[in-house]
Amino acid sequence: MPQKPLVAICFTCFAVAATAQEEPMPILFTNVNVFDGVSETLIEDANVLVTGNLISEVSSEPLAVANGRIIDGGGRTLMPGIIEAHGHLGQAVLPTQVTGSEDWQYMASLSTFAAKYYLDRGWTTVRDAGGPTFGLKKAIDEGHIPGPRIYPSGRFISQTSGHADFRYGYAAPHPNEAETEPFYNQFIGAIADGVPEVLRATREELRKGSVHIKVMAGGGISSQYDPLHTLQYSAEEMQAIVGAAADWGTYVMVHAYTDATVRRAIEAGVKVIEHGQLMTDETAKLAADNGVWLSTQIAFLGEPPTPEQIEAFGEVTAAKFNSVREGVETSINFAREYGINIAFGTDLWGPRLPEIGNEFEYRTRYFSDLETLQQATSVNGELLQLTGPLNPYPEGPIGVIQSGAYADIILVDGNPLDDVTILGDMENIHFVMKDGRVHRNDL
Ligand SMILES: [Zn+2]
Repeated sequence: MPQKPLVAICFTCFAVAATAQEEPMPILFTNVNVFDGVSETLIEDANVLVTGNLISEVSSEPLAVANGRIIDGGGRTLMPGIIEAHGHLGQAVLPTQVTGSEDWQYMASLSTFAAKYYLDRGWTTVRDAGGPTFGLKKAIDEGHIPGPRIYPSGRFISQTSGHADFRYGYAAPHPNEAETEPFYNQFIGAIADGVPEVLRATREELRKGSVHIKVMAGGGISSQYDPLHTLQYSAEEMQAIVGAAADWGTYVMVHAYTDATVRRAIEAGVKVIEHGQLMTDETAKLAADNGVWLSTQIAFLGEPPTPEQIEAFGEVTAAKFNSVREGVETSINFAREYGINIAFGTDLWGPRLPEIGNEFEYRTRYFSDLETLQQATSVNGELLQLTGPLNPYPEGPIGVIQSGAYADIILVDGNPLDDVTILGDMENIHFVMKDGRVHRNDL
């Protein structure tokens, strides 16, 4: 056969790629009240101009748009898209215990569901805290499927017996043999012990596209073989991981509940504590002195386990959950007292994905509407900047409405500064734009 059919196939591919990447026309929003991600008052009756994928102007004066489109916001609040500081798009819909036994393509398909689920609700960026998202991110960025911006971690890095050691109970003892199990073949976690192995695991993830590194530093709730009190990774191993990440210009975030795990991580140079509920006053002060962030999640631990959940997950898991839950208020009080940066995230993955919107309501137990709004937008936007030269979206800031920022915009019924919980229900969000492209428009 001659070459012709092959050429035709190639042209088709290029046509698909070109459609996905076409430059959007300028859009002028009129008749909106703007929450800019920072200020305690709205900019009333404002106009916002989007050119390409960036916001080009925000003004109380009328603006003109040439060859563009005008969207009358009908007096709604225009604000930055919501940022998730702790998601797991690669582990959507299914509980961890079964993810390793499923077909990889089924898992990937569920990830695309989760990505759209976030974006439909106005969550335009997800800082992924572990799991396979490199391919998902690429497909979204190329415009083939809808989804948020993703800041990927790649695989969780865990010691043997650590929080990501999800081997079956009778698994072969050698760590390299562990990696032949499905959980590891699906690129969810990596088991590495000793300095050479943790360096290799860290560099493997950086090579594939991790923009920050996620390490399991202590006992977990959902994992079966690591009691909560366990310290995971020696100081030497932790320092090695931090050093390898720093050589690439980025930082390490750790899963850590107990005081000892949080302290060891901070002393090793870790920049973000995920969870941190059981840290003490002194350790919180150490975190503040070192500019360490607290990435806390409240809805996740919002209610004690029901009898059905105890039945399903077992008494040990329920007891771990309750221990961590007891520390929520204290850790937040410490963080507030010492002025630690507090991120807005949910950790609501798998079967709990539909609860993400509840995070707004649970935050009102501890924070004002303004504080919660800032955390979910501009504060999380600052957190994303810790990725330094690895930032996959370096053209402008995320999480603010200002000239030069990425055009990640939602339109909301009502004023979230008066009641932030309205953001938890997508019925109140009528318009979602990401990267200057309209994803949803129910106006
Ligand atoms: Zn998590």
